[in-house]
Amino acid sequence: SVYYIKQRWKYEQRTILKDEVKTILRPFRLSDEQIRKVMANLNTEMSKGLKPSTDSDLKMFPTYVHSLPSGQEHGEYLVVDLGGSNFRVSHVNIETRKKIRLINKIFLIPHSLLLGYGDKLFDYIADCLQRFMIDNKLVSFENAKFPLAFTFSFPCQQDSLKQATLVNWTKGFSCTGVVGKDVVVMFQEAIDRRKGLNVEVVALVNDTVGTLMACHATYRDCRAGVILGTGTNACYVENLSNVQKWQGDRQNLKEVIINTEWGAFGASGSLDFIRTEIDRELDDSSLNPAQQKFEKMISALYLGEIVRLIIVDLVQRGLLFPGRMQKSPRIRPDYNIFLILRGSFYAKHVSDIESDKSEGLSLTSSILTGIGIHEPSFDDCKIIQEVCKTVSQRASSLAAAAIAVLINRLNVSSVTIAVDGTLFRHHDKFKKNLIRTIDRLVQRTFKFVIMDGLYIPDGRKLALIDRDWILDDLPH
Ligand code: BGC
Ligand code: MG
Repeated sequence: SVYYIKQRWKYEQRTILKDEVKTILRPFRLSDEQIRKVMANLNTEMSKGLKPSTDSDLKMFPTYVHSLPSGQEHGEYLVVDLGGSNFRVSHVNIETRKKIRLINKIFLIPHSLLLGYGDKLFDYIADCLQRFMIDNKLVSFENAKFPLAFTFSFPCQQDSLKQATLVNWTKGFSCTGVVGKDVVVMFQEAIDRRKGLNVEVVALVNDTVGTLMACHATYRDCRAGVILGTGTNACYVENLSNVQKWQGDRQNLKEVIINTEWGAFGASGSLDFIRTEIDRELDDSSLNPAQQKFEKMISALYLGEIVRLIIVDLVQRGLLFPGRMQKSPRIRPDYNIFLILRGSFYAKHVSDIESDKSEGLSLTSSILTGIGIHEPSFDDCKIIQEVCKTVSQRASSLAAAAIAVLINRLNVSSVTIAVDGTLFRHHDKFKKNLIRTIDRLVQRTFKFVIMDGLYIPDGRKLALIDRDWILDDLPH
């Protein structure tokens, strides 16, 4: 009957559609063989990076942190954390491991500062620091300066704990006049420019190093710190005998913490066998073309954009929103802001759509409507969910490959890996797939601990002074 033929035709159309979508997504699905090749290449670059004066994708910076916390530490410090999804100022008073008082404040950084003059950025940070100290009545005296630890999550060449030359900006930052400079000096000068702010920057660490140290105070077998967030990176404990480029004293030192800067992996082409047209497009239009290629396939700052670019491609091929696109095969500029606006699709959307189990994918539909795609059909939602799943799975598999390389290098029978970052914390599927994949790739036993800073790892809350504001009255 006609009805039957119509149904049959519809069914075939759907299958054709599905097959075409599959073809587009195929390059994003990694085989085990490809994942293992990524591991081998990454391991090679890591070893190269430990040698003196060789060109490696990975900087493998020694960090000058030569001992890990025992959990017996105490003292009172200021902390500034720059480079994650939040810019944060904290005051911490550690009496014992179980008695820690922490005050935290998150400040927003105006977008213009990320792309402006470096001096202005540091002036702003010093300004926030001073407001924080005034608000919390933290008095500092000229003759006894408040010690401050600076978590600065960008690649830095260090000569000591309180000296750090910025090699390049990553993520959304691109301030002028900072690359090649000592950021501790720049921050200290900004502090000294302000009257009545008596603070001394005593240490600079990468966020991965902070994560490792925080975890080690409780988990003695923790040997690596990983960030899966806005950006991605890891540090780990390496035997000094493997660090051929180490120039300092070797007498009383057996191990050093190495900041791998693995986000830069791929610079010399070792990821080209899996990078897609979309990855190249994303890279070309980024703030830092040809840099951080591995990071751009994994971290939260880029996941949404990868998905958006695939969606645009599918629309242009008439595979998404087909009825509506029939009349104009090219995207009209007014068709949909989302489709033409770079960065308008977030990792959060990827995560929410990926895990949508609602009837008829109504959650996905409402997310899409929320970003300006009106009345997507069920098939549209289904396809977009498939895109999100595929992109997220590729990211977590690559992160898993990298962590597996670390675990293998650490070469101990059992190890704890400290992890932090929005992707790992809030993206459930990502985390599950990550752990499952590592499990497949390594023989050793490992466990993950998420470092929160506000919680000790067994989940009990610290003696936390409950103040966590978002500041929206920005200084001019
Ligand atoms: C930076 C690293 C940092 C990581 C996670 C990367 O873009 O280069 O230094 O650890 O992001 O924040
Ligand atoms: Mg962070």
